[in-house]
Amino acid sequence: MSFNPLTPLDIEALAAMVDASRFSTGDSVLDLHAKDQSHHLPQRPEVVIWPIDSSEVIAIVTYANDHLIPVTGWGSGSSLEGNPIPVHKGIVLDFSRMNRILSIREKDFQADVEPGVIYQDLNTQLRHTGLFFPPDPGARATIGGMIANNAGGTRTVHYGSTKDYVLKLSTVLANGEIMDMGSRVKKTSSAYDLIRLFVGSEGTLGIVVKATIRLAGLPSEFSAAISNFSSVEAASRAVFEILRAGLDPTALELLDSECINLMNEEKNIGLNASPTLFIEFSGPTLNQLSETMALAREICEDIGCDEFRAGLGREDRNRIFEARHELGEMIVRNHPDGRIRIMDMAVPIAAYPEMIAESRQALTASGLAGYIFSHAGDGNIHINVVGKKDDSKQWVQVDTLTDQLVLKALELDGTATGEHGVGIGKRPFMKTEHGKSLEWMKRIKALFDPNGILNPGKIFPSS
Ligand SMILES: Cc1cc2nc3c(=O)[nH]c(=O)nc-3n(C[C@H](O)[C@H](O)[C@H](O)COP(=O)(O)OP(=O)(O)OC[C@H]3O[C@@H](n4cnc5c(N)ncnc54)[C@H](O)[C@@H]3O)c2cc1C
Repeated sequence: MSFNPLTPLDIEALAAMVDASRFSTGDSVLDLHAKDQSHHLPQRPEVVIWPIDSSEVIAIVTYANDHLIPVTGWGSGSSLEGNPIPVHKGIVLDFSRMNRILSIREKDFQADVEPGVIYQDLNTQLRHTGLFFPPDPGARATIGGMIANNAGGTRTVHYGSTKDYVLKLSTVLANGEIMDMGSRVKKTSSAYDLIRLFVGSEGTLGIVVKATIRLAGLPSEFSAAISNFSSVEAASRAVFEILRAGLDPTALELLDSECINLMNEEKNIGLNASPTLFIEFSGPTLNQLSETMALAREICEDIGCDEFRAGLGREDRNRIFEARHELGEMIVRNHPDGRIRIMDMAVPIAAYPEMIAESRQALTASGLAGYIFSHAGDGNIHINVVGKKDDSKQWVQVDTLTDQLVLKALELDGTATGEHGVGIGKRPFMKTEHGKSLEWMKRIKALFDPNGILNPGKIFPSS
């Protein structure tokens, strides 16, 4: 695909479409929209526009399509795989001002939102209703960005990921047409499921301008525990056994000792520095939870855990999960001269212990600094591997190691990305992961976006 750089005439035409305060070609604004939270190199767009309604998005996208100018959606820029980096420049549409909660329909367990709504803000608004939107990537992400990446988080093991919460979408297609898809009903067998196609498409098929999302009831009781093991392999066996026993945790997270050390240093939470499981259950009564917790204890003890500390109060639990959510930032702070590659492969749960064992061994053998922290209940493994910023040799080593681990996950029938999306970094693995169906994905892309203007340079390998 070849695109046209913006001319002064383009700038003039686009500027006329929105209020001057919502249009910028200023250096600092372009810099702010050149990079997400990943290690990928920045690329500035040529202009940033903040639309406030779908008619503005339609006008901008139509113009861009007619003039072969790339358009990339922008939520909060919290992606971890280069997903919103405008690698072919052009226009970035920043949705932070299209952030109205349009309606909350408590009785239907649904809300209609614009794409720029931050999910934590929605949950704050929902507090009095006893409902919430469960996917929780942790960063201050927008619902549009979460839909585009099919974001997950610590609660996915119980609640599912964003794809399980999108009922209806309004999207602006590349030709400027608006397409509504989906339905307000909880179940439907009616024709093709376009929602599933668009969720996780990283803004390459259409721009989301409105979504109807499903909400869940806030559980009234919860119970949390920490269990320490002598190795990540033993901890990962406990994950498998807890799930096999059907205990249905609301969170089941595995952190290696390097992560625990960091959390202790930064948050002073006094955990034992060994591979640790954070286990959380929620439900209607404390009695039910204490029975479930007793079974979890039995499983961990049978596997030989060093400690099982149950009965954490809400405060302790919140402190630990807050620290868990901040781990990525702690790792960055701890390596000021580092460039960090963030992995998020996922494997079927039976293969999880093998994947963890291989990852730990490969990390140790490489001598590189690395942190394993995982949404273990989903078979989703996060590994942050650190190389020195200015050491190109070490970067080759980081890439070789991380590529090897992605290929291992694929060999185990897993996926290159459990929740961060393909973005830039996982493109080389798409052929191995999807085989011939990747060709059908390309045809779908060409059908919706024949000129390839929507977030080009993502998902598909370059050759
Ligand atoms: C500390 C930290 C922890 C994280 N933990 C997790 C985690 O546990 N689980 C997880 O899943 N993710 C996690 N993430 C990654 C990130 O938060 C998610 O990928 C999130 O979905 C990105 O949302 P965003 O609003 O920042 O979108 P952006 O990063 O701005 O964009 C994401 C994608 O959406 C597209 N896009 C944005 N708006 C629209 C729109 N309106 N229409 C079409 N496309 C659009 C962009 O072009 C891009 O492809 C974490 C990130 C950080 C920094």
